[in-house]
Formats: sequence, structure tokens, C-alpha cells
Amino acid sequence: MDYQTYFRSALDDLRDQGDYRVFANLERHRGAFPQATCRNAPAAQDVTIWCSNDYLGMGQHPDVLSAMHDALDRCGAGAGGTRNISGTTHDHVLLERELADLHGKEAALLFTSGYVSNWAALGTLASKIPDCVVLSDALNHASMIEGIRHSRAQKLIWKHNDLEDLEAKLASLPLEQPKLIAFESVYSMDGDIAPIAEICDLADRYNAMTYLDEVHAVGMYGPRGGGVAEREGLMDRLTVIEGTLGKAFGVVGGYIAASVELCDFVRSFASGFIFTTALPPAVAAGAAASIRHLKASAAERDLQKARVAEVRARLDAIGIPHVPNPSHIIPVMVGDPVKCKYISDILMKDYGIYIQPINYPTVPKGTERLRITPSPVHSAADIDRLVSALGDLWTQCQLARMPMAAQ
Ligand SMILES: *Cc1c(COP(=O)(O)O)cnc(C)c1O
Repeated sequence: MDYQTYFRSALDDLRDQGDYRVFANLERHRGAFPQATCRNAPAAQDVTIWCSNDYLGMGQHPDVLSAMHDALDRCGAGAGGTRNISGTTHDHVLLERELADLHGKEAALLFTSGYVSNWAALGTLASKIPDCVVLSDALNHASMIEGIRHSRAQKLIWKHNDLEDLEAKLASLPLEQPKLIAFESVYSMDGDIAPIAEICDLADRYNAMTYLDEVHAVGMYGPRGGGVAEREGLMDRLTVIEGTLGKAFGVVGGYIAASVELCDFVRSFASGFIFTTALPPAVAAGAAASIRHLKASAAERDLQKARVAEVRARLDAIGIPHVPNPSHIIPVMVGDPVKCKYISDILMKDYGIYIQPINYPTVPKGTERLRITPSPVHSAADIDRLVSALGDLWTQCQLARMPMAAQ
């Protein structure tokens, strides 16, 4: 086989479908987010980022930066090993305590990313618990799907957020058979939110464990940023809460929070935990500072909600279609991969606005979109420029508008 030819033709197919991904080569500037420099050829350019998962701007927060500087000066760069082999530092221990407290759980366990935490925790629970069946929401994140697949456990996929379908699948299994319901709170592409209480009711009735990915909700919802389950008073009803330190907390890493026994079980059996170098202590210290700050301060969450409402209202005023949902994610629907990529390119080139196109396979074909994530650090002038640029491009691409809202 001519390997290079094979690679090239597979990539050409992707390009033909408009699904080839091109990175924006960005340089963020401390304290200036969401402004950044884009270093793609031909020339460096100032851009405003509108698609970051650093939802609250915590990646620039002075408390987070000073905690990281301090830990770097105290401890040096890397952890020096896996958690078993000299890689457990005091900063890791403190961060796990902070996380257990955030979710009202007995314990927490850190991983190098949210992806790894889902892959390792779901993979380990589903493979080690005898005869475990995983009931997985149809729109679960790739990291959950891969973890479940890796476990080789029996898997039943239930229709997205559909309680009737979940119940029918639960009822089809013997009551004594171990079951794990895996789902998310805020789904990242449509911004819809799961009926967590009702799913917990079904779990109780059918003797199932629950595993909730709160990656897009931690730091963002609830009085202390514990997520949607905290906001709804449900944290104690979930067997496992999984989250990331890389999105609203602005650093990097992932975790589960659960009982002492469950965390110890995953710690003891998960290959994706055991055989990889621990996060640098400075990362752990920065994440802990971010969590501590957001436990005590609702200012960032409140301002972000106001910005999200303002962007939605301004889009409505000029008829740009976006998916209504109860979260902070604004999916602006384009419905065509080539136009979606084109709009994104022109936004960057002519308007200095960065919103990456979301195309297949991240979303189904025909639902290509721009996913806008307003933050507390976007200004009124940033919003003006965004809305007027989208208005121009909607006209230029002859995209349909919604009936205008009364002004
Ligand atoms: C981003 C994401 C993850 C992975 O988290 P990382 O920390 O970025 O690896 C897991 N679940 C969902 C739903 C996500 O969107």
C-alpha cells in the first residue's frame, strides 16, 4: 500500500465535504481575554474569541495565575511520576478535597483531562462490575462512548433526554442486574439540559447507578458552581459526578466525585489513572484557586448570564436563527457545511472575530452551526461588532432569517 497516497485521498474527501478542520493559531494575552492574536498566514491579526470554553475567563483570573506562579516557584515544573510512583503532591491532595467538597461527595479522583476521566472511570466501572449494563444517552460525548466501548460491557443507547425510552430499556433488564445510567447535564452542541431528577427517580426504581458528566456546568451553575445538580439540589442522588478543570475553571484536568469506595476502586483498577504522569502541581494549585474563587463569587456567573441574554436578544432583533435552550450556549444554525466554514473564515479575515465552524461529525449533517459562548469579559462593543458582522454575512450568504422580534 502507498500509505501517503491513502492519507492524502482520505483528507481530500474530508475537504470535498467541507469537513476538513483548520486550526486557528492563536496567542492569548494575559489579562486581555477574549482578545488574542491570530498567527495564521499571511499576517498576524487581532481577533476577538467568541467560541472558547473558558466560559468565565478564569484562565486569566489573577488568583489562578498567582496560585500557579506560586506553586511553580515552590515545586518546580512537573509532578515527576504517576500518582503511585512519587507523583502525588500535596497540591493534588488539596485539589481532590476541594472537588469532593464542591460536589458534596466523600471523595474525588483527579485525571489528566475530562476525556480521560470519562474514558477511565466508565471503562473501569462497566468492565469490572460483573454483568454491568450501561444505559447511555444517545448524545453522550465521545469520551463517554469510548470508555463504554472499551469496557466491552453490554450497552443500551436511549433516545436523547427521553425518559420513556430510558424506562423501557431499564424495565427490559432483570432488577438484580447491575446497571449504570450515563448522561450529561448540559449538552454542549444544543445547550439543552437533562431531566436529572427524573433520571435519578428511574435509577432508584430500577436499581441503577447514575454517572453524570457536568463538564459544561461545573463552575457555571449552582450557588457554589457545583453544576446543574447543585442548582437543583440533586448532588447526593448521583452515584458519580464527573467534571473538567479545563473549561469554566480555566486550567486543565478532569475528575470524578463519588463515595470513598468508588473513587478508591477506580484509583485501584483504572489503567488510565494508574499508568500516566500526574498533572503538574502548578496546574493543580491553579485549578484549586479557580474552584475556591467560584465557590465564593457569583459575580462571574451573573455577568455571564447577562451577556448571554443580551447576545440572544440582539440576534433575535435581526432574525438570526439560534436554538433556544436553558443554558449559556448559543448555537447559531447555518445548516450547510460549506457556508458554515465560509462564514467562519470571513468572520476571521474581514471582521477579526473567531468562531470556529461546527460541522460533521461533531454534529449531524444538515445541522452545521456556529457555537457562540459569551463570557463576562466580552464588552458591549464586542457584542455590537459580533451582531453586525453576522447580519452582514447572513445577507451575503442569503441565509434565511427568523421573523424579527418587535424592537
Ligand atoms: C470537553 C468535554 C469533555 C472532555 O473534557 P476535557 O477536560 O476537555 O478533556 C468531556 N465531556 C464533555 C461533555 C465535553 O464537552
